Amino acid sequence: DPVEWPTKDLVTHRADATPDRTAMVAADSGNAVTYRELDAAVDAVAAALDQRIDSTDATVATLLPTRPAVGTLLFAAMRLGATLAPLNIELDTETLRAQLSTVDADLLVCGDGTASLAAETADCPVVSVDEGLSGAAATDHGPADVSADVTPATLSRTDTQLVIFTSGTTSEPKGVRLTVGNLVASAVASSYRLGVLPDDRWLVCLPTYHMGGLAPFVRSALYGTAVVVQGSFDADATQQVITEHGVTGVSLVPTMLSRLLEAGWEPPASLRFVLLGGGPASESLIERSQARGVPVYPTYGMTETASQIATARPETAFEHSGTVGQPLVFTDVTVVADGEVGGPGDRGEIIVDGPTVTPGYLNGEGEAFGDHGFRTGDIGYRDADGRLWVEGRVDDQIVTGGENVDASTVAAAIQAHPAVEDAAVVGLSDDEWGQRVAALVVGDVTPAAVREHCADRLAAYEVPKTIQVAEALPRTASGTVDRTAVRSRLSDGDESNGSSQ
Ligand code: ATP
Ligand code: MG
Repeated sequence: DPVEWPTKDLVTHRADATPDRTAMVAADSGNAVTYRELDAAVDAVAAALDQRIDSTDATVATLLPTRPAVGTLLFAAMRLGATLAPLNIELDTETLRAQLSTVDADLLVCGDGTASLAAETADCPVVSVDEGLSGAAATDHGPADVSADVTPATLSRTDTQLVIFTSGTTSEPKGVRLTVGNLVASAVASSYRLGVLPDDRWLVCLPTYHMGGLAPFVRSALYGTAVVVQGSFDADATQQVITEHGVTGVSLVPTMLSRLLEAGWEPPASLRFVLLGGGPASESLIERSQARGVPVYPTYGMTETASQIATARPETAFEHSGTVGQPLVFTDVTVVADGEVGGPGDRGEIIVDGPTVTPGYLNGEGEAFGDHGFRTGDIGYRDADGRLWVEGRVDDQIVTGGENVDASTVAAAIQAHPAVEDAAVVGLSDDEWGQRVAALVVGDVTPAAVREHCADRLAAYEVPKTIQVAEALPRTASGTVDRTAVRSRLSDGDESNGSSQ
């Protein structure tokens, strides 16, 4: 039998059940709202949006940094039955224009800091949250009007509630459709792994145009707990916020955690979890976390699954460094190689099925559904105890002279050199080898030293034939290594580098 969802949306329900509990805190100003106040703000914003869009089927795009208003807008869109599409404020205007047209935005919401970017980008109406978006609403429109036709069965809607673009690591960012069902399923499954306590406060310092930054808003509203919102990450300021605001959990990407540790961070006893995701966490980061008593939960997730797929608890992470642990409850993970489902230890593409999986991309582009569910494009295996180990992307598998080389294995070997700070490994097309292994390295080293170091620990065919040293790795707006840029940089530099052509 189908699940009977409550007929109220997350915030109306919370305003009834726990009106005086804190919903959101802005870390920078210290301003806080209770669930009763949030509910009223959501009504006001929903009403203001309703005046500007055809509420039943509209898309509201946003160009906003991490701030509580993003949460209010998401809940307002939910209440109206509109789709929210938070866009990445770090992108160039050309890409943003393309994304606005992909999502077919009816309205673009900006703030003071993004008003000129919005004006340059949009060919739809633009409105600012800092210039009366909710103010106008409060006087013109009563809450009753808005909630009348939008509250029933909001949670069971199967249409698109949210569009989030992928990071664009492997190609252009893809617009991922997510339903309220996806978001709620993710929140429920996450709570079984991380636990929920009544006084939880989840710090959001990640961008809210990615799932890692947006998910805590939905989760906290479902749980009746609070989010603390910090405009951006800063190793010193974030430490302070965690202590001063009694933060009990925080979502971080590996570079942020690494910076906190470098800054001498020792987490307060009240911090229950550091949800660590977005990319692979190195073994040394896990070890350093253990040494400092950081309750780290290494996580594998993606936009297409509304964030977490698998998450390891600290005891698992410390005992089996490198694993992302068991899949979340309700999430099925299958490993498939050459069409066959692998057993323990068998490597293959990671396939995910379950209630968090997107119904598809916008415009049906790049559909990736196969026999066992959604094809992640990532390579990994389950061990005998079912723990998942993620090894890299299918696209990172390099076939050179008939041998399979895993780019992340080579990158890890290079990174073991003490003078190497960072490294990216890709395959370049090559007349003789089909593909050849190529590395872009950051650090105080020479290509010859890197080659020698690799020769000691890798098979001959795994040793990069092209090696370049760079100041920094090119990264996407969301901070992942931009592999397309790495590839073109390494191909451009070929001649000067005296490589194999
Ligand atoms: P695009 O799909 O546009 O190329 P992207 O895949 O980087 O970009 P996201 O959805 O933000 O966009 O990132 C999800 C991907 O990040 C996963 O598919 C995986 O490749 C990588 N990833 C996330 N967590 C981990 C992890 N713990 N270990 C290894 N890789 C991870
Ligand atoms: Mg992806």
